[in-house]
Amino acid sequence: MKIFDTPILVTRPYLPSLERYKEGLAEIWQNQWLTNNGPVLQRFQKRLAETLGLPDERLSLFVNGTLALEIVFQAFGLDTPGAEVITTPFTFVATSHALRRVGATPVFADVDPETLCMTPESAERLITERTKAIVPVHVYGHPCDLDGFGRLARKYDLRLIYDAAHAFGVTVDGRSIAEYGDASMFSFHSTKLFHSIEGGLLTFRKPELRTRLEQLKNFAISSETTCEAIGTNAKMNELAALMGECCLDVLPELIAHRKIVYEAYAEVLEGNPKVRLLPKSSTMFGHVIGHNYAYCPVLFDSFEVRERVYAELKRANVFTRRYFYPLLSDFEPYRNTHGRTPPRARRASDCVLTLPTYHGLDPAEARAVALNALEILG
Ligand SMILES: *Cc1c(COP(=O)(O)O)cnc(C)c1O
Repeated sequence: MKIFDTPILVTRPYLPSLERYKEGLAEIWQNQWLTNNGPVLQRFQKRLAETLGLPDERLSLFVNGTLALEIVFQAFGLDTPGAEVITTPFTFVATSHALRRVGATPVFADVDPETLCMTPESAERLITERTKAIVPVHVYGHPCDLDGFGRLARKYDLRLIYDAAHAFGVTVDGRSIAEYGDASMFSFHSTKLFHSIEGGLLTFRKPELRTRLEQLKNFAISSETTCEAIGTNAKMNELAALMGECCLDVLPELIAHRKIVYEAYAEVLEGNPKVRLLPKSSTMFGHVIGHNYAYCPVLFDSFEVRERVYAELKRANVFTRRYFYPLLSDFEPYRNTHGRTPPRARRASDCVLTLPTYHGLDPAEARAVALNALEILG
C-alpha cells in the first residue's frame, strides 16, 4: 500500500493566479463598489449567460446555492401551507433543508441504481393532491431522466426545479443542462468544480421570473418606499463575482483535467468485479452528454467493504468522502417525515465512496489511490 507523504484530500479549491485576482481587486477598489449588483457581477453574469447560451434575463446570481434554492422555491409558491415536494434522499442536506425552510414537506423518492439520480417512475408513485413540485438532483453531475421528468411535470401540472449544484458545465446534445425544467440551481461553492468562493446561480425558463427573484434576494424591497413580500439577503458580492470570472477563464481546462483524473481511475478499476466506477456514458436517455467529471464516485458490494476501504485509505493519507451517507432521510429532522426508506437510495448510500479529484491532482496519484483500493479489496 502506498502511504502518501502529503494528504490526498477528496477535493481542493481551484485558485487562479494571485496576479489575475489582484488585477480584479484593483478594479474593484477603483469602482468603490462592493456589492448590490456591481459592475463585476454584471460582467460575470453576462459571461455566464454566454457560456450557458441563455439570454441574460434567464439567470440570476446569489450568495450561495442554498439561498438560491430557498428563493426559487418561494417564488414558485412552495411556501403555501401543506405543500409537498418530491425529491431524493440521496443528496446533500441543502436540497431538503431549503424545502423545509420555506415550509414545504420533502417526500423522498428512490433512485436509479446506475446513475444514482431519482427516477420519474419512483416520483410518480408519490404524487398526491398536495404535491406542488418535483426537485430532482443531477447527482455528481449525471443528468437525470430529463424527458421523463418533463413529461411527469406536464402530466400533473407540477413545477420542475433541478438541483444542478454539481452540474455546471454539463451539456445535453451540445446545449447547457440549464435548458431543462422550470429552473435549475448551480452551486459555486469552493468545493465544486467551478466556484466563486461561495455562490449560486439560478437559471429559469420564463424571463418574467427574474424581477421577482432579484427582489427576493434583496429583502423584497422594490423601491425606496415599498416592500411587498418577505425577502432575504442573498446577493453575491463583487469579490465573489471576481473569483467566478477568474474560474470562468479556465472552465474548459478545469473539466479537461478532471476528465484525465477520471480516466486514470478508470484505467485501474475497470473490469474489477468488486468495485464499480460510475460510468460517464456519452449518451444517456437518448441524449448526447458532455460530462463535467466533477466527482469520481465508486460503488462497492456492501457497507462493510465500503467502510473498510474508507478507513484503510485514510491510514494511507487518502481522504475520500462517503457522499452521500448517511441518507438524508436518516438525519434527525427528517426521520419519520415519510414512509419507508427508498431501498435503492439506501443501498447507494451504504456502498458509495467518492475518490479524490481536483485541479492539480496528478493522474499518477489517482492511479496509486486506485491501486491502494484494489489492494484493500484483496
Ligand atoms: C453544494 C450543494 C448544495 C448547496 O450549495 P451551496 O452553494 O453550498 O449553498 C445544494 N445541493 C447539492 C446537491 C450540493 O452538492
